[in-house]
Amino acid sequence: MTNMNNNEGIPSRCWCGKGIVTYVSKTEENPYRRFFRCEIGKQRKKENHLFKWVDDALFDEIQRIDEHQTRIAEEIEDLRSSMKKTVEEEVMKHKNSIDVGCLGSILTILCLWSKRD
Ligand SMILES: [Zn+2]
Repeated sequence: MTNMNNNEGIPSRCWCGKGIVTYVSKTEENPYRRFFRCEIGKQRKKENHLFKWVDDALFDEIQRIDEHQTRIAEEIEDLRSSMKKTVEEEVMKHKNSIDVGCLGSILTILCLWSKRD
């Protein structure tokens, strides 16, 4: 998205440096269809300035977000399984001291309980 020459998705800038403007097509093939084009490209039609249909761009953008989301979902799944593994390892490591921990918690609860009165 930071790449200026990136024409995928919604374009932000033409290769000539001009910003992108949205125009409405008046041709018979594509009446009222909106498109992106730089201001220079609009005036100098022979030069090959950026041109992109808005619906195509939006479709690209949605696909990109979709791919991005799939990647994030995979990363979360990875994180979750590695966290689970870490917790399991910790539990295994401290298995012997768990009894002491339990006793400690019970004592704390009893202590708090007795302080209530
Ligand atoms: Zn241009």
